[in-house]
Amino acid sequence: MTILNCSATTCIYNENMLCSRGEIEVRGEQARRSDETCCSSFREQQEASAADSTSGHCGCEKIDIDCKARECAYNKHCRCTASAIDIDGHDAATYSDTKCGTFSCKSR
Ligand code: SF4
Repeated sequence: MTILNCSATTCIYNENMLCSRGEIEVRGEQARRSDETCCSSFREQQEASAADSTSGHCGCEKIDIDCKARECAYNKHCRCTASAIDIDGHDAATYSDTKCGTFSCKSR
């Protein structure tokens, strides 16, 4: 599994720059640059209802990443093989404001 650091502190799943979701999906089917990717699992805190409470979950350092950015050198059959990645999303309001900062295009 991959170590995930996430700067999207406006996400309901963010716990001290770690993710409490257990698994995330990164999109960017056609991406050739980092800013063409995004964490589609991002959910803004204000959107969340009380029923979606994440109490009882804690941020885990390691996480499964279902990644659609097939042009990334770390992507193997839609799984991320990087030992550690950074999801960038400082002040993100929607998932499209996030990106995988570790994306590295295969064909560069
Ligand atoms: S490093 Fe590459 S394979 Fe891993 S999540 Fe980021 S874009 Fe996907």
